[in-house]
Amino acid sequence: MNIIAELHCHTNISGHAFNSLTEMAQAAAKKGLYAMAVTNHSSIKDTLSHLHFYCYKYLPRRIEGIFLLSGSEIDLVDFEGHVALSEDILKGLDFRIASKHNPRDTAFESRYGTPEENTQMYLGAAKNPLIDCLGHLGNVTVPFDHEALIPVAASTGTVIEVNTSYLKRSKENVECYRDIIRLCRRHDARMAVTTDSHSIYTMGDFSVGTKLLEEEGFPEELVINSSTERLRAYFLERKGRDIFEDEMCL
Ligand SMILES: [Zn+2]
Ligand SMILES: [Zn+2]
Repeated sequence: MNIIAELHCHTNISGHAFNSLTEMAQAAAKKGLYAMAVTNHSSIKDTLSHLHFYCYKYLPRRIEGIFLLSGSEIDLVDFEGHVALSEDILKGLDFRIASKHNPRDTAFESRYGTPEENTQMYLGAAKNPLIDCLGHLGNVTVPFDHEALIPVAASTGTVIEVNTSYLKRSKENVECYRDIIRLCRRHDARMAVTTDSHSIYTMGDFSVGTKLLEEEGFPEELVINSSTERLRAYFLERKGRDIFEDEMCL
């Protein structure tokens, strides 16, 4: 399986990543990628003002030989699945990932939920039309009912991320992801392989994710970033227009 777009990465403007937007785009181009979504965090400690997410209008759609997509990895702030950016900002972004992070790292008061609470949280996010993707569901520190969530994500068109950074962290995460992938296959839920890169050194290294999908016989047609045609078709369907034709990112 070939992956042609990085849909989850962070830049050093966030304070806790290591390379600039230009360096990340150059690394993506060097890897032969077609597109890169920059998805800096909303509401992680030591991160950006919300004004940042209005400012993609200053960036061209094409930089360094690749397509640039605007985005954010937005924190889930409660167990109903509310997120840390306003609807107004969310509407302007191309790819919106909702994630639950370690309570230690978040800018608001939070805690790890019970499996029941986490399931409700992810269901709330999956039903939000302003959320495109659920981030690192294979993180075993946030357990949830896979069988309850995946059919709903399939019906709302919410993409389930295969996050190679989390796959590299533990064997438990790999097994958790294996179960999620099997359910996505059974229910025809769409997936995307991402690296969650915080530096140029992991940009475009999708291999642990594609290997796992191949082991589980996951159909390539359901991986939105597995070809330029699939990527463009996904955004055409999701946004109702061809964002790749834009001059600027917002
Ligand atoms: Zn980060
Ligand atoms: Zn994350």
